[in-house]
Amino acid sequence: MQISLQGKVAAVTGATRGIGRSIAIAMAESGADVALLQRSPENEAVKREIEKLGVRCAIVPCDVSDSRQVKEAVPRVVEALGRIDILVNNAGIQRRSPAVEFSEADWDDVLQANLKAVWLLCQQAGKYMLAQKSGKIINIASLVSFQGGILVPAYASAKGAVAQLTKALANEWSSQGVNVNAIVPGYIATDMNEALINDPVRSRQILERIPAGRWGNPDDFKGPAVFLASDAAEYIHGHLLAVDGGWLGR
Ligand code: NDP
Repeated sequence: MQISLQGKVAAVTGATRGIGRSIAIAMAESGADVALLQRSPENEAVKREIEKLGVRCAIVPCDVSDSRQVKEAVPRVVEALGRIDILVNNAGIQRRSPAVEFSEADWDDVLQANLKAVWLLCQQAGKYMLAQKSGKIINIASLVSFQGGILVPAYASAKGAVAQLTKALANEWSSQGVNVNAIVPGYIATDMNEALINDPVRSRQILERIPAGRWGNPDDFKGPAVFLASDAAEYIHGHLLAVDGGWLGR
């Protein structure tokens, strides 16, 4: 079987860099037209990369900290590219601090960007996908969907909930042609982990625990994301696919 996303429209949040950028490019390399849902519409760098691949690409303003913009994003994707077949909820933020010092503002920011925006985008995309009786939603979860993490109480709470939301929506929509799954990244060398990478002790401790013997990189997500977005994953629902170099198995 050949995996192709030809004729599909994929929307990816937070694709300006890191994991989201690799996933958006992979969707285009597999033949999909791509909507980049980003908070800085003037940043056209990834759009240019994608258009070179011969598919259509549209930038849709979507600051995930702003629920009003989030709710408008999916209709704008459909307006720009005609439909929506794939939604990748990738945009996310991190705040690190001991729990007793963790501010209410940081809690609200993390829960808004990493959970509420994911929910609203799933809900909006779900309306179109249920109507067309097909669609693939991929949420980006985390190891802290399973584990508590260290100094990241809001992030762990949000990502735990993203895993549960993925299963809740899959239970409701799987019989109607819509697949909802999640990818669980391990430790990936992106801007989000700058603090960990620059901490020689934590960085070494993490590396020693990864069975694959290396940190992940954004391109490690190309294959898993395209697979879950494709017809090859038709009977996969509510699954949390770890892309973690073996971390969770250890
Ligand atoms: P990066 O920090 O490298 O990139 C984050 C992306 O999210 C950027 O495109 C950024 O856009 C976007 N973003 C941040 N805030 C907003 C906002 N308010 N509105 C719209 N877009 C926003 O992150 P990663 O690539 O590392 O992470 C991607 C996803 O993977 C996240 O959900 C993260 O939680 C998850 N993850 C990452 C892990 C890792 O080890 N790196 C591990 C587990 C999960 P901009 O350029 O405009 O800032």
